[in-house]
Amino acid sequence: MTEEKRKQRHKKAMQTKKRLVDARIAEAQIDRGVLIVITGNGKGKTSSAFGTAIRSLGYGYKVAIVQFIKGAGECGERNFLQNHPDVFYTVMATGFTWETQDRDVDIQAAQAVWQSAKAYLLNPDIHLVILDELTYMVKYGYLDGEEVLSCLKNRPVQQNVIVTGRAASKDLLALADTASEINVIKHAFDAGIKAQKGIEW
Ligand code: ATP
Ligand code: MG
Repeated sequence: MTEEKRKQRHKKAMQTKKRLVDARIAEAQIDRGVLIVITGNGKGKTSSAFGTAIRSLGYGYKVAIVQFIKGAGECGERNFLQNHPDVFYTVMATGFTWETQDRDVDIQAAQAVWQSAKAYLLNPDIHLVILDELTYMVKYGYLDGEEVLSCLKNRPVQQNVIVTGRAASKDLLALADTASEINVIKHAFDAGIKAQKGIEW
């Protein structure tokens, strides 16, 4: 094929593509907040949610962040965002459940953090609520799954929510508007490489 012919073909294909994309954009008429669930065993769930927080903050929106299990250790995203004037930040301070090894303490901590999450889910001034690692709270039975779903369903119409964590329940995935599963192809940890500050936490 001559270079000229190739260019012409490319142009035609792109014109068709643009028509299809424009038609799909015109079809999307519903304007409301979305529930996004990011699940799966691969790396990238929490960092994706925080990337979206930065996107929202870039437009001056208010963002609430609730971290359900990572409170004990330091993390760069919290260092950076917890004093931001447009961020409401709540952390469960007990750390990983395999460290506390006390179910009652975990349940109490989860319930306390959930009270903040519920308040954020009622506040129409908050553009984005991130419920980081929420899936485990439901999976372990620390929070009532039905209540969680009902608060998500009844949030303000324009409010967006991102839930992260492995093993998202079928009901949560059914309620989500957007759900992504991040799968492992490989992880450095399996090759014995230490978790890297500023990358892993
Ligand atoms: P990140 O916070 O990096 O986006 P994540 O939220 O997808 O990761 P989590 O399951 O919350 O992953 O685990 C948090 C920590 O464990 C991170 O330090 C992450 O790099 C690491 N991690 C994630 N997936 C794996 C994996 N498959 N094997 C080993 N470590 C992992
Ligand atoms: Mg995570």
